[in-house]
Amino acid sequence: MPLPAAARLDHRYVWHPFTQMQDWLRTEPIVLVSGRGAVLRDAHGREYLDANASIWTNLHGHQHPRLNAALRAQLGRVAHTSALGFASEPASQLAAQLVRAAQTPRATRFRGQPRLRKVFFSDNGSTALEVALKLAFEFARRTRGLTHPRFLSLQGAYHGDTVGAVSLGHIDLFHAAYSKLLFRTSPVMAPYCYRCPFNRARADRAEARTYRKCGWECVGKVEQSFDLAARRRQPIAAFAVEPHIQGAAGLIAQPEGWLQRTAAIARHHGALLIADEVMTGFGRTGGSSLFASHHEQVQPDLLCLAKGLTGGYLPMAATLTTQAIFDAFLGDYAEFKTFFHGHSFTGNPLGAAVALASLAELRRPEGLAHRRRLEQHLTRELATLWSHPHVGDLRQTGLIAGIELVQDWTTRQPFPLAARVGIRVCEAMARRGVLTRPIGNVIVLMPPYCTTLRQASRMVSALAESLEEVLPHHRGR
Ligand SMILES: *Cc1c(COP(=O)(O)O)cnc(C)c1O
Repeated sequence: MPLPAAARLDHRYVWHPFTQMQDWLRTEPIVLVSGRGAVLRDAHGREYLDANASIWTNLHGHQHPRLNAALRAQLGRVAHTSALGFASEPASQLAAQLVRAAQTPRATRFRGQPRLRKVFFSDNGSTALEVALKLAFEFARRTRGLTHPRFLSLQGAYHGDTVGAVSLGHIDLFHAAYSKLLFRTSPVMAPYCYRCPFNRARADRAEARTYRKCGWECVGKVEQSFDLAARRRQPIAAFAVEPHIQGAAGLIAQPEGWLQRTAAIARHHGALLIADEVMTGFGRTGGSSLFASHHEQVQPDLLCLAKGLTGGYLPMAATLTTQAIFDAFLGDYAEFKTFFHGHSFTGNPLGAAVALASLAELRRPEGLAHRRRLEQHLTRELATLWSHPHVGDLRQTGLIAGIELVQDWTTRQPFPLAARVGIRVCEAMARRGVLTRPIGNVIVLMPPYCTTLRQASRMVSALAESLEEVLPHHRGR
């Protein structure tokens, strides 16, 4: 088949993110030209299932009729007006709806926690985190008198790729090279139950998944970090977490109760809680709440949203915050307490219009019912993978699934990254018409919400076949 023109141009001119371009240039790239629902089509007319929702962004499928209509309607008015100096209809409506969506029920467990009342728009997950960082930093200086506000975040954390967001992150492979460019933040142990150093009982995988011996040592580590910072008189201004499940760390879910416990510790020490729900927001983690924090009755002081905010249509982000933080930036003009931050496309009307349509979609009861069915179906299908000896752990939270591949499930010995096992498995899946991207040795399945049960089955069977191809196993278990 002739090389599509776009493939030639791509090879000549485009530099891809998180990609070893030497490898990229060796093979013909898949040129995606259109999509509908969970299906993407390439320049040769081949169809694929979008098994990672186009890197965790797409919620309702491609070319969704109501999202398309909302976008077209806004395009008939204006594509962009600036939030620097002007209000806009879609952005103001979206802000109001986000505040409403993030409202917590008046349940007792939420009592005494802050309310999110204001929305600062930006362009992507990284900038949503930059905004949260700067607000938390300045809030701590102004209200707690801290001269050098510090941040605590989780080992393996990924909060984006701008310098502030990278400073908050702790993935050595991505971040080590830039260490001299970054400001220091403290990492603290994150729960990773499958590889928990405090749970050495590794008899079988069912055992590992029950965490029967858990003494919440990882929560103790968070407590120690706060105590140590207080003793050194270097109090922590804010604690940043990806609630419920860490994404780029390898889809590592937190055990039930971890978030609530650590949030309470942070609050006890007067730190703000920054919830990075760039990946987990908008129903990804299942259940009826749109935000992962709310599963554990935790309301953050700063809630960062992006990826699925526009249903995955356009780059747009939001940082929700409390009245108290907002008020710390009020004053006479000449006091210069203004939040000096903004981007040219802040509050973009096209993005806001499609985000409003996406929120309306999320509220439809039949959509929620389908997400539940899809989630349960995925659980059943994934369970069939346990029999493969290179499947070490299966982690599912709502419509997020991570399949961790290991050399040997009895020892949990990881494959060396250089062996590119995750990449090879995903390449084999692409040949079977299923697109996803690994995180090291973890295969990601994060289907769009419109995915049918049959399509979900195909995603899993393509993974099973690809495992057989790349990691053939000769013995039963
Ligand atoms: C993707 C992601 C980000 C960064 O978002 P971008 O839009 O890619 O800048 C931040 N935090 C989390 C948890 C993410 O998954």
